[in-house]
Amino acid sequence: MITAEAVINLSALRDNYDLLKHKAGGKGVIAVIKGDAYGHNALKTAKALKQADMFAVSRIEEAIELRHAGIEQPILLLEGCFCQKDLEIAAHHHLQTAIHCQEQLTDLQNASLSAPLSVWLKLDTGMHRLGVQPYELSDYVEQITATGKLAGPVGFMSHFSCADDLNASSTQKQIDLFLSQTSSFPGPKTLANSAGILFWSTSHFDFTRAGIALYGISPNENETGRQHHLRPAMTLKSRLIAVRHHKAKQPVGYGETWTAPKDTYIGVIAMGYGDGYPRNAPEGTPVSINGREVPIAGRVSMDMITVDLGPSAQDKVGDSVEFWGENIAIERVAKHVGTIPYELVIKLTKRVHKRYLDHTNPVDHINPLPHQTDLNE
Ligand SMILES: *Cc1c(COP(=O)(O)O)cnc(C)c1O
Repeated sequence: MITAEAVINLSALRDNYDLLKHKAGGKGVIAVIKGDAYGHNALKTAKALKQADMFAVSRIEEAIELRHAGIEQPILLLEGCFCQKDLEIAAHHHLQTAIHCQEQLTDLQNASLSAPLSVWLKLDTGMHRLGVQPYELSDYVEQITATGKLAGPVGFMSHFSCADDLNASSTQKQIDLFLSQTSSFPGPKTLANSAGILFWSTSHFDFTRAGIALYGISPNENETGRQHHLRPAMTLKSRLIAVRHHKAKQPVGYGETWTAPKDTYIGVIAMGYGDGYPRNAPEGTPVSINGREVPIAGRVSMDMITVDLGPSAQDKVGDSVEFWGENIAIERVAKHVGTIPYELVIKLTKRVHKRYLDHTNPVDHINPLPHQTDLNE
């Protein structure tokens, strides 16, 4: 029997892509599939997104794997190549690369490339993590162009630091700076991440870069993806492996951190931090079982989670339990845990079995229950 399982809905990914493309005013959308597509499997995601204009990853190994598997769309290396040899490999595989510093420019100058390369110059507009400074920009453009190794004009990219915060004044400043610095150059421009697509319509330029929203998750911690009409792509599930009668005042689990206030049934689920479910999920974090929500009781252990099923529970060993996805918004779980959904999806371990649904397979349809959208419980 399969217990811990992440069910990935490929048609949800496609719908989300199309919705984001629409929200970005039809501009190009780069599907960000770094980190194994935020834990959803990069190859399955790339194959499902036949309509994607372009993909982006963080490491060259991720891009090479996609090329070896036959993915033909353009692939952008978001942080560029970290040495000259990688730049030569990138050109060989027709990858597009970022340049954000002097070392990467020097590598380009020294590299002997087997094919022309598409280069995106990364400008620091306020994140202050990567990127050349505004006063250096035109000098970089000149030097990159002078190498004669480019497939087209230099592109421009930058990254938001606070676009998920609708009240942050820094986002408009970043947009204005990006626009004023790059508008006189002919190359393509990309600034917006998911939050930029959803909340900052003047940030869309020629290409947007959609990560978290592609997976149906809100980039803003006070909303759910569903509030933006996105569909959760991943549902994390497992099964009850024990239902135990439990007396009032008895504790459960390591450290005896939780004690039953009254007689109840404790459900033991095959899921733990060994599967990537966060160990610091506190008691009260919801799971969904047989159409209702029940709270985690006691500590998350490596292979098991205990929940308070309540005194009148009818649940049986083998029953399916959902941790996030169709019925429980992952944004709610992240709030309980004190993290962001990005971390929850990417940390699942390989012990979690992955199953892929497609609308071409109607047997696999999941019926969502009415969804709780209020995150301020
Ligand atoms: C990860 C990443 C994105 C995608 O961000 P989301 O918030 O997941 O949409 C976009 N651009 C860069 C440079 C990134 O590293």
